Amino acid sequence: MAKREISMVVCSNCLDDFPRKETYTVARKMHRGVDENHDEYYAPYCEDCLKDKKSYLRIVKSPEIKEKKK
Ligand SMILES: [Zn+2]
Repeated sequence: MAKREISMVVCSNCLDDFPRKETYTVARKMHRGVDENHDEYYAPYCEDCLKDKKSYLRIVKSPEIKEKKK
């Protein structure tokens, strides 16, 4: 029997659970409000939270979308 395990990740912005393959990875500033510090960290983000562009620096990775079926 094949066990279907969907790995879930928690979006760093809304703190909801999402299937890993549907989440984005974004770079966020480690110390918000400290201009001279440019440390970054990567965080999982859901599609909705991507609209909140002020909360992250850039998208690092988009989800793999398996729409192409041959
Ligand atoms: Zn979210």
